[in-house]
Amino acid sequence: MAERESMKVDCLRSISRVRTLLLWGLIGSGLFLSGCATSRPTQRVMPNVRPATALTVNLPMSTGSGMRDVYHVVGPYEGLWRIATIYGKDVGSIMRDNNITDPSKVKKGQRLLIRNTYGPRPNIPLFPTTRWTHIVIHHTATDVGSALDIDSMHLKKGWENGMGYDFLIDNGTGGKMLGQIEVGPRWLKQMDGAHTKQGDWNKKAIGIAVVGNYSEENLPTSMMDNLVFLVATLKNFYQIPDRNIVGHRDVPGAATECPGKFFPWNEFKRRLRMY
Ligand SMILES: [Zn+2]
Repeated sequence: MAERESMKVDCLRSISRVRTLLLWGLIGSGLFLSGCATSRPTQRVMPNVRPATALTVNLPMSTGSGMRDVYHVVGPYEGLWRIATIYGKDVGSIMRDNNITDPSKVKKGQRLLIRNTYGPRPNIPLFPTTRWTHIVIHHTATDVGSALDIDSMHLKKGWENGMGYDFLIDNGTGGKMLGQIEVGPRWLKQMDGAHTKQGDWNKKAIGIAVVGNYSEENLPTSMMDNLVFLVATLKNFYQIPDRNIVGHRDVPGAATECPGKFFPWNEFKRRLRMY
């Protein structure tokens, strides 16, 4: 579960490890170099603009269900470039199909028609920084939800920066696919999280939540698969040791069962070590 709003924007900085990070091995078959973070280290990531990140990791498209038209509900801080990348489309075609003339006017909650797509695929932006040294796994302790839902829930709590987690693994509700990886606004802006109130964990730890209540149910396989892929991607890029990847309940001082007593922790750590 998420905890406590905190802190302010922390612009991209600390790029001393960029060259090392760029040498990190390819994950999967889809990896794109995008932009030159070294020349503009303080550039903020803005919606509808390609992120000032060194790497974006994509899984290949799953062609299992064939090409189809789908509707996509725009998530928090989600721009057209990200949406186009997720669906393997170009920005221009999405603009044409939805009569959009000004991409900056696309708003969260807006429903967009995406024609002829194999569906969404993970798209994980990786920012060159040394600040992320830990990962905390949570569950949302809700039955349903997408990043848009969790974002509005946290905004209603008075957290002005929205969803407290950096990433969400969807459970097939809220219009999302089972196991879909969503990226939150805080990650896109490289801000502190609001998920683990103990000490400086919101500053140093990437917060990832699986949607659902895993004190009451078992984690579906495809959610586990994509959680492992996401955590392995982050772990390898930021060189985070396995001992720094913990459940919320294992953070010193935390009094919580999160991510739930049925969360398969041993299987998760075993699969992570195989990456
Ligand atoms: Zn938690």
